[in-house]
Amino acid sequence: MGEGAARWGVSEEESEEAAQRQIGFAAKLGVTSAGGGEQTQTMKKSDSAGTENCGAGGAGWLERLAQHDHEQVIVMQNRETGLRGFVAIHDTTLGPAFGGVRILPYASETAALEDALRLSRAMTYKASLAGLPCGGGKTTLVEHPGLRRAAAFELLGAMVESLGGRYFCARDVGILDADLEAMARTTRFVGRDPAPGLGDVSEHTAIGVWHSMRACLEAAGIGGKARVAIQGVGSVGGWLARILAREGFSLAVADAREERAAAVARETGARVMAAEEILFAEAEVLAPCALGGVLHAETIARLRCRVVCGCANNMLATPEDGEAMAARGILYAPDYLANAGGLIRGADFFVLGVEDSGPSLARIYERTHEVIARAKAEGISTARAADRLAEARLKPRKTHREMTWSGKVRAAALTGAE
Ligand code: NAD
Repeated sequence: MGEGAARWGVSEEESEEAAQRQIGFAAKLGVTSAGGGEQTQTMKKSDSAGTENCGAGGAGWLERLAQHDHEQVIVMQNRETGLRGFVAIHDTTLGPAFGGVRILPYASETAALEDALRLSRAMTYKASLAGLPCGGGKTTLVEHPGLRRAAAFELLGAMVESLGGRYFCARDVGILDADLEAMARTTRFVGRDPAPGLGDVSEHTAIGVWHSMRACLEAAGIGGKARVAIQGVGSVGGWLARILAREGFSLAVADAREERAAAVARETGARVMAAEEILFAEAEVLAPCALGGVLHAETIARLRCRVVCGCANNMLATPEDGEAMAARGILYAPDYLANAGGLIRGADFFVLGVEDSGPSLARIYERTHEVIARAKAEGISTARAADRLAEARLKPRKTHREMTWSGKVRAAALTGAE
């Protein structure tokens, strides 16, 4: 597993930058919840319609949970260990909630809770679209000076264990190997990697991106060996570069850490570009494999590619940016569709007991075609089409939920107790 690799789809990549972005996000939320912003407006509408505001600083959290139909939020506080945070279980209609644990010095409790709500929902969509028998969850912990880290993570593990397999977690931003080890002392429901037989999760993610890219190239009528510009050649981007080089594509790469770009270029024959230029490279495909939020009005207007397909989470700064891409005639592979390979591997290994995820990953190719076809048929963006497909799998079964999934998770495999 590469340095800073993500697990199950959200990474500890760019930990520093991610942390900064999260803090920025948190700060923004602080302002948003005080007034303005879509979510706040929605709540205000509900409030004005007579919905009871059930506290939590006047934010109306039950209404907030109802907005995206979150199943459950567990609020954790323990004075002795300093554990503070939230476990959000968005949806277990399709199976146990999967989702990482992240720890950040959140600017506020609201920010930590919002992060858990947003990310757990994203995991549900990713799992649903990938056809997996699991749902979405997320843990967000507040990093603060009073935290006794090992004890706090042991306690978190005990709480996760008490859910009996309803929530299965793994590494995300800010989590150290020692944290996972501490959790594994008290719960079976934590994925530690590398684990024997699991393989490199980032490599699986890159293979999934490649399958999605193949479909995009076909749909866009791009034959031959296309030019691909990769922004960020860390764990996933590096693997993607290797796959594409093997397939004979012409590559340009950039990384904020120049030595990484140089190393990948030596290995793959790629051309190195400056990090600030790669987004606007003249290429058939742009593969954002670094940070989220890179596609917004300003950058979309300057893109010179025909397809965007990469692994970065939350590539679009806002949902509307999906429409902007479509309006420019750029085919966008929805991020959670293209980058589901890591989650697919996790579910295959931990839930389904599948040794070789090759066939499961290859289904990303068909699913990408399906999303593109639906977008065309309905005259909507691929981003919206992906959301609709993910929701379609959930809604018909939404009324019946099994609350215990312990039998479905190969917990013993996690602890090596098998
Ligand atoms: P990583 O940290 O290993 O790699 C990211 C790379 O991007 C680093 O080399 C970093 O130096 C570089 N980078 C950061 N800012 C940059 C910039 N402005 N320009 C160019 N390069 C920049 O992370 P990763 O695990 O490869 O994940 C990459 C992205 O994919 C993240 O958004 C992550 O959430 C997403 N993702 C990863 C996985 C996975 O399995 N690792 C799964 C799903 C989604």
